[in-house]
Amino acid sequence: MESNLLGSSPGSPLCCPVCAEPLVRVERCLRCENNHSFDVARSGYVNLLLSSARRSKQPGDNSAMITSRRRFLEGGYYQPISDEINRQFSAAAIESSCIMDAGCGEGYYLARLSDQLPVSQNTRCYGMDISKPAVVAAARRYRQINWLVGSCARPPFLNDSLDAILCIFSRACFEPFAQALKPSGRLIMVTPASSHLKELRGLIYENVIDHRRDKFIDAAAEYFDLIEEKRVTHTITLPDSRAILDLLAMTPFFWRITLERKSHVASLDALTVQLDVDVRAFVPCN
Ligand SMILES: [Zn+2]
Repeated sequence: MESNLLGSSPGSPLCCPVCAEPLVRVERCLRCENNHSFDVARSGYVNLLLSSARRSKQPGDNSAMITSRRRFLEGGYYQPISDEINRQFSAAAIESSCIMDAGCGEGYYLARLSDQLPVSQNTRCYGMDISKPAVVAAARRYRQINWLVGSCARPPFLNDSLDAILCIFSRACFEPFAQALKPSGRLIMVTPASSHLKELRGLIYENVIDHRRDKFIDAAAEYFDLIEEKRVTHTITLPDSRAILDLLAMTPFFWRITLERKSHVASLDALTVQLDVDVRAFVPCN
């Protein structure tokens, strides 16, 4: 099936990561007026991550982590988060024509949001991640969304081009986000609240410190005002070690856990964990 996306419609928000001029679709590539050209892959995504912006050869989640992440999310454990994102989105009644998910992973949240948008709004959705395996997995599964490899620190979007940015457990880059958003746009952020995955953290760290919920608001304050906040709490039971390890692979703890503790986690038959997150909407300060 051919994807019909990535700049084929007028008014694409994408810009060249080299020179920041608008990108237009020319056959199988996106090209700027300075002739910088980026191939659209067969599966329909485009790689706009410059090698100079990569900190490692393969930045972001690897294929195994993406497989874990997809299996876990499709288990529905995090659906309350997705539902709250979608609710805030509908409640805001944004005349959304352009949405970007910054750090989209394998596409779960953006695809669920896209599915609930009225077709009549003709919204264009862009999912961006620094991990190429994540974007490949997203592009193969969800054809009606534009997928790109790119960096949140320098998102390849024109100034004032986006109506909404989602940032879900991902590093927020407030200054470039504020630039890419229209003045009427909004940023929807999901961040861990105090007790998020406390039980899992207890298996990994000697001392479990509560997450400080306000730190994200403080970090955003120079560029964004908070306008809505909902804390989503939910108890989830992971029924087997595969689900437990899948969850672990989605978290930052994955990189820090010792081998000994990891084998202990892997030996558990089941685990009940607390989901505790803040879903917040921000608008740019003038
Ligand atoms: Zn260019």
